[in-house]
Amino acid sequence: MSEVVLQAESLTKHYGDVQALVDLNLEVYAGEVFGFLGPNGAGKTTAIRVFMDEIRPTTGRITIFGMDARKKSVEIRRRIGYLPGELALYPNLTGRDTLTYFANLRGGVDWAYVEQLADRLVADLSKKVGDLSSGNRQKVGLIQAFMNKPDLLIMDEPSSGLDPLMQREFQSMLREIIAEGRTVFLSSHTLSEVQRVAERVGIIRHGRLVAVESVHDFRSKSIRRVELEFRSPVAASVFAAVPGVRDVLSQNHRIVLSYDGKMDVLLRTVADRYDLVDITTQEADLEEVFLAYYRDEATPDEATGNDSTSHRGVRA
Ligand code: ATP
Repeated sequence: MSEVVLQAESLTKHYGDVQALVDLNLEVYAGEVFGFLGPNGAGKTTAIRVFMDEIRPTTGRITIFGMDARKKSVEIRRRIGYLPGELALYPNLTGRDTLTYFANLRGGVDWAYVEQLADRLVADLSKKVGDLSSGNRQKVGLIQAFMNKPDLLIMDEPSSGLDPLMQREFQSMLREIIAEGRTVFLSSHTLSEVQRVAERVGIIRHGRLVAVESVHDFRSKSIRRVELEFRSPVAASVFAAVPGVRDVLSQNHRIVLSYDGKMDVLLRTVADRYDLVDITTQEADLEEVFLAYYRDEATPDEATGNDSTSHRGVRA
């Protein structure tokens, strides 16, 4: 087993009556990208701020590089690159001045590397930060997180505002970090991003870690997307009654659904009674698996609310 770089033990954080984190236990290993996934308000930012000793937990402990995060925060920070969810920057400083300021705080960095990062992300460092779009401001934030070549990168929603091309560049930067044996912890609610870069994902919901799994295992969960084509229209309700079937969509002669059960059970349900012309199945992506997790965990208020995770049963 690899070295544990970051360990959270029984982490709890209350804001008054709000339980932002509930008994969170987590280990991040050297040389991995760990994706921390959860919807808005799940507790991702709170956890990261506790890791960084920006806020104190109600109970529990964080250990980073084998050191207590509260007692050794200065030593730990030297080895971390940190991108907060909302990076406060001076609007009147240019990107270059901003990075110089961060570099000085860190006791100097390799400026050639900073220029290289700026080139890769196509970041204009000559403009005032206050005049930049949010995506371009995010680039400045990313450069400051990467620029000291940290052993551990902790990033809160790093791709927010980046266009797809820049997201790809960012992902290849992450892969290089990992190839060098360094470690990345990133929070996201964008599964496609995590799917591409992370080895393991932790899913947080209402402050609780509901699952930690390798992306590979996640994807190999038996949920499949199934498309059935019939000679004549078939009612979606026929499928909604089959155990393991979710999200039935009916389009003329076609039925599309998610299924986590034995394929022969599904086929027997239909083939005997309806004229099946064609069937295609494919592995569900992480998004569908993720939604399935959340649906199972859905609270009564969400089941009646407009949360996209709460759609059950048939859509026609
Ligand atoms: P998002 O994706 O929206 O940033 P998140 O997963 O990062 O969400 P947090 O920001 O950690 O979630 O919030 C977790 C919970 O704690 C939420 O219910 C939030 O309203 C609450 N919370 C966060 N910060 C505070 C605070 N300073 N005071 C009171 N409640 C807070």
